[in-house]
Amino acid sequence: MAAASRPLLERRPEGLYCEAGDFFVDPWRPVARAVITHAHADHARPGHGAYLAAAPAEGVLRARLGAGIALQALGYGEAVEVNGVRVSLFPAGHVLGSAQVRLEHRGEVWVVSGDYKVEPDPTCAPFEPVRCHTFVTESTFGLPIYRWAPARETFAGIDAWWRANAAAGRASVLFCYAFGKAQRILAGVDASIGPIVCHGAVEPLNRAYRAAGVALPPTSLVSEVADRRSLAGALVLAPPSAGGSTWMRRFPDPSDAFASGWMAVRGARRRRAVDRGFVLSDHADWPGLHAAIGASGAERVFVTHGYVPVMVRWLESQGLDAQSFETEFGGEEGDGDAGPGGAAPAEAGGSAARGPDATAAGADEAAP
Ligand SMILES: [Zn+2]
Ligand SMILES: [Zn+2]
Repeated sequence: MAAASRPLLERRPEGLYCEAGDFFVDPWRPVARAVITHAHADHARPGHGAYLAAAPAEGVLRARLGAGIALQALGYGEAVEVNGVRVSLFPAGHVLGSAQVRLEHRGEVWVVSGDYKVEPDPTCAPFEPVRCHTFVTESTFGLPIYRWAPARETFAGIDAWWRANAAAGRASVLFCYAFGKAQRILAGVDASIGPIVCHGAVEPLNRAYRAAGVALPPTSLVSEVADRRSLAGALVLAPPSAGGSTWMRRFPDPSDAFASGWMAVRGARRRRAVDRGFVLSDHADWPGLHAAIGASGAERVFVTHGYVPVMVRWLESQGLDAQSFETEFGGEEGDGDAGPGGAAPAEAGGSAARGPDATAAGADEAAP
């Protein structure tokens, strides 16, 4: 590995800074030039002078940050030179347009993976391993207890719940994050069971996905449903913040459920106080994180958010140079949505600050 005088990325108050190229990756404070891994709120913030992101992210970024942002869209695998640093983007498999940022300077290669998952997802390009010297990884679900079953099993469970509710004349209200999770659910469920109604926070993102060429079944806003009786058999997708709101009163005798990786933990389900919890995450599980880190070939790994000390220790046990890299990323989605019954989002419970003794029980209790 080429010796570099300075690390290619360092932490500044504004975010992860590449001094050689004079730009930031996913900065949390306004900067002149930002390279964005994906459009979740904790990674793509408003107020930057210029944005660089993957081409498939353009619609969702403009939907969330404003149509007028100064955005340069780069195709996956294409490269641009930014002050002598070669920047290219590769699919991260997390949500539509999510990218790993590859930085190359004087023979030194770093990859900032943002958020990622390695499981296939029809709503975004699949994770693509990128070789590098230094890999920057998340660790949102970086505990051995997190091992996802194949998503099709989760969708079969959602279908069975929806079908039974429809037969009983009940609406099926499924809480999920508006960007990414909702569209993955739309693409995965059996749309022949009944109509699908989406909350106003979800529907604009559905439109952005369809505009990007992602096939989703027909959906409507509740205000567009002419015959309110059809709501009895509907699947309703809403952000967690809609739970307990007057918006919910439109649905006759609803059964409610929550779809999230945190549903793998019993305490999180209990605190959500919903009828059902479906385990569905847009992040890599424990084996997925290891697979992705291994495939990068990196000898050095920086861990940015999630169960950082646990992952650092595990990587060190594998003989890698691993360090924590404190950031302001966090949350399964970073949307800041409160749960159906709670104030703080479980997803924000993911915690760079959690101590080295985090255990399965600790995870259970830490997620509000
Ligand atoms: Zn994130
Ligand atoms: Zn994300």
